[in-house]
Parts: sequence; C-alpha cells; structure tokens
Amino acid sequence: MQYREVPKNGDKLSILGYGCMRLPSKMGGIDQKPAERQMLYALEQGVNYFDTAYPYHNNRGESFVGKVFSQNNCRDQVKLATKLPHWMTHSKEGMHKILDEQLGKLKTDRIDYYLVHALNGGLWESSKEHGVMEFLEEALSQGKILNAGFSFHGLSGDFNQIVDDYDWTFCQIQYNFMDTQNQAGTAGLHYAASKDMAVMIMEPLRGGNLAKTPPPLVQKIWNRAKRKQSPAEWSLSWVWNQPEATVVLSGMNDDQHIQRNIRLADEMRPDFLSEQELDLVREVADEYRRVMKVGCTGCQYCMPCPAGVNIPSCFDFYNSKHAFKDKSARMMYLFQNGGMVTEKTSLASQCVQCGKCLEKCPQNLPIPELLKEVSGDMEGALAKPMIWLGRRMMKTRKKQSR
Ligand code: SF4
Ligand code: SF4
Repeated sequence: MQYREVPKNGDKLSILGYGCMRLPSKMGGIDQKPAERQMLYALEQGVNYFDTAYPYHNNRGESFVGKVFSQNNCRDQVKLATKLPHWMTHSKEGMHKILDEQLGKLKTDRIDYYLVHALNGGLWESSKEHGVMEFLEEALSQGKILNAGFSFHGLSGDFNQIVDDYDWTFCQIQYNFMDTQNQAGTAGLHYAASKDMAVMIMEPLRGGNLAKTPPPLVQKIWNRAKRKQSPAEWSLSWVWNQPEATVVLSGMNDDQHIQRNIRLADEMRPDFLSEQELDLVREVADEYRRVMKVGCTGCQYCMPCPAGVNIPSCFDFYNSKHAFKDKSARMMYLFQNGGMVTEKTSLASQCVQCGKCLEKCPQNLPIPELLKEVSGDMEGALAKPMIWLGRRMMKTRKKQSR
C-alpha cells in the first residue's frame, strides 16, 4: 500500500480510502457480515482511511462503522472521517449536538477528519451565517475533531472561495477523467494543493459507470494501449497518477474489487502514466461525453422523491441502454421500476415535475426534464401492458410457491 502525507499534520494516509457509502446491503439494510469482513480485510492490507457520513445507509452507517472498529479493537489503527449534515440545523449549538451524537454512534472520543458535508457556494454562505466556523474552532479545541475539511459539489469559482475562507486541513472533491472541468475540477485540485490541503477524491469511477463494460468505440480506444488493464483500473490509475490526490475513496462492496484496488494502490506512483497513455484517456473521455445520455453519479442525494420515482435507477438504465448498448436495459427498467420486484412502481413517468429534487443534485442535472426523456424512450405504449403482464406472472409464481 502506498501512503501520501497530509501537508498540514504529517499524517500518512493510504492512497486507497474505504468509502462506507456503498457497503453491501440486504433487505434495505447493511449486510453486516460481509461488510465487516471486507472492511477488516482492507484494514489488514494497509487501508487506514475510512469515510462515512450521517445520512449513509439511512442514518445507520455511522453506527455500523463504529461497531466494527470498537468490537474488533482497531479504532486506533484507522483515520476515521465523517461529515456534518449542516442542513439539519441552523445553529452552532445544533451542530455540537449532532457532533456528540456522531461520536456516540461511532463509539469514539474523536473524529480524525471531519467534513462539512456537500457544500456549494450558497450552502457555504448559509452555514457561515449559522456559525459553522465558530463550531469547527470549538470542536477542534475540545479535541472532538482533529482536522477540519469540507466536501464539495458546487461550481469551480465557489470552490476557491470556500478554500480561502478558512484554514482547512483537507477537502473532498468529485474527480475522475470525465470531471476535469466539472465542479472543482483539475483547477480546484491544484488550487487546494497549492494551499497545502490534502485532497480526498470521491467518485473516481463516476458512480461505477466508468467501471462498466464500455461502449464498443471506447473499448476500441482502450485496446490500443500497451498496458492491459480494465476500465476501472485505468480510471483509478489516472487519479492516482496525480500527486495532488491524497486519498482516492472507493465505495467497495465486492471482494474482487477490493483485492483489485488494493493491488493497484500498491503499484501506483505519481506520474506513473506516460504521455501517450494520458492522451488515450483523454480520447476515451471525449468518446464517453459523446455517448453518455445523463451525467448521473448515483449519489442518491435527490432521493426520496415524493412521487416515488427512483431517480438514479431511471438514469442508470437509460445510460445502460444508450451509452453501454445494454440490450436488456429497457426490460430490466420496466421489470424493476415497474414494481414487479417490490410491488411499488418507481418509474420516470411518475414524476409530477414538482422540482424538489433540483437543488439537491450535486451535478446540477435538470432532473424533471431528463425524466420526461427517460419515460418517452424507455416506457412508451408498451410499458403498461408489460408491467401488467409481469405482475400477473409474479402473482402466479407466488401462488404456486405457497
Ligand atoms: S421533480 Fe419529479 S423526480 Fe423530482 S422530486 Fe418532483 S416528482 Fe420527484
Ligand atoms: S440525479 Fe443527481 S442527485 Fe440524483 S443520483 Fe443522480 S447525480 Fe445524484
């Protein structure tokens, strides 16, 4: 495992960080046994940075992470990161209350890396008005948090302003070879690093999309590379190639992916990729931009939708059909979102255009408009009879199995 140093405190953090947002799940909760086993395996292999947040896994993620580390007596071996859900309170006292609750859930007396969660320009201004800077100062002096940072999903200009407003130790940005000009982007990465901030990278695979079987034209470009590696390996290598990226967070829930990431994190050095390889990655990014219908990362911040639309799932199937040429995507969409699995429908056509999801989307996607596009393309006249037929079949099967 390679480690990179945090300029302001000298901590040596594993370049692979464990993102606890996508732990294995079962029946709507965390599948605890595999999740615990995978986290402990990563720790054994040298991963020392674990990132969670208040809302992950329906507000139960922090308790689970805390339980794993306390029951296995390994809290002191990890650098634990979690985030302030600033939208839950409008006062400094409220922030302290939330932090105390988080310390309790995480079964610890300090949080090593504490982030103000999912900021953009407007949210930063309102958190300042609510006293977030004073709160951070007090929590640092009390030793309840050891380092202050923020995670970001806004526009590039706002990013620099937030960096300049406070003496942050670190920040967390969305970054991958498709997002060089989006959100903080490459300019933000370099700006934060120039201020001696550690930069944690989230979404290196853009919600898993860059790890999927690529469209044929993208695969053709990858095939020209001398280095033979999977699309996921290319994406991760590209981020680690940049010395300013301190930790790359991966939301891991699959044994093989964990092993692959750990192996790569052992090999990757800054400036490892050649100029030709970097050109190849740029070509791939251009091709993806051409074919990708919706730039959704699957972060779920827009959920729940009051009308029951499963927004990220709609976009995922839509992209699978168009960008990844998945022939079964439409059927799968109608099957899953048409309520044949859960008996609750969550189709794009259910959107009532209320606009409540718009301000929650860190990618600034025009969600209601895009959902109209999805329903036109994926549902059409066939949707209703197909859903009806599918439900009948499910009911018959259930009756037979009784
Ligand atoms: S605009 Fe549509 S998708 Fe968004 S919250 Fe309203 S109903 Fe749900
Ligand atoms: S639509 Fe936006 S908020 Fe919703 S999952 Fe996609 S990227 Fe996240």
